[in-house]
Amino acid sequence: MKSPPAKRRRRSASRAHPAQRAPKRAEKVALQIIQDIVTERKREGDKLPNEVEMLGKYAVSRSSLREALRLLEVQGLVTIRSGPGSGTEVGRINPANLAGTLALYLMMDRAEMEQLLDAWGMVEPLLADLAARNADRDYVRALMEPFASGAAEGERAMQTGLDFHDAIAELSGNPVLGLVLGAVGALVTEQVRLRTSSFELSDATVHAHEAIARAVIAGDGPAAAEAMRDHLDEVRAELRAAMPDIGGALRPPGQAL
Ligand SMILES: [Zn+2]
Repeated sequence: MKSPPAKRRRRSASRAHPAQRAPKRAEKVALQIIQDIVTERKREGDKLPNEVEMLGKYAVSRSSLREALRLLEVQGLVTIRSGPGSGTEVGRINPANLAGTLALYLMMDRAEMEQLLDAWGMVEPLLADLAARNADRDYVRALMEPFASGAAEGERAMQTGLDFHDAIAELSGNPVLGLVLGAVGALVTEQVRLRTSSFELSDATVHAHEAIARAVIAGDGPAAAEAMRDHLDEVRAELRAAMPDIGGALRPPGQAL
């Protein structure tokens, strides 16, 4: 039985907002590290200073520094390598990492898979429309050609599907929409992975990706959005057929079959 959404508890506006509590030392250091990555124009894979340097730079205890780095690592914003060549590197701004955090929030909010699919169905056509209107046509072609030309035809792994939707999010040209809405798509993929180990992209999906990619390359926003809408309706039908329990509660991340 589904509980009616209206009866779910509402957040109280009068309750102290968690963000208003004083940030811990480690959280402040985490923020400083991000600010330094930005001001020093560091990119993915660039090395951060070693631990001794960072202890001096941020004037914190070793435990606070490690906690700060751990906070950033959990969110994929830095990568901590051990062993030879060890050190901390700038991570990748990956919607899939945000999706992990989003999953925790949505689980606690008792969001259901059906609602996640609804949200995905609404936002993805918008991204396709924006991608088609991206002014950097060379970049659009570079990212979309592999999907438009049928070169990805033999690729049936779910990752290829995720890569396609990531590329659309990237091409939307708006990092806010690309990251936030991209995370919704990544979360859908994650939830499908948690339910089945054998889901492969269907012929219909591969051809739909081709059609969307061609519309994006042609700069036709409405056609790209329409093709995306059709594609997601089809994916939804496929998921329902493959997984009768697809509509239930979200599953905890990191517990793939
Ligand atoms: Zn797709």
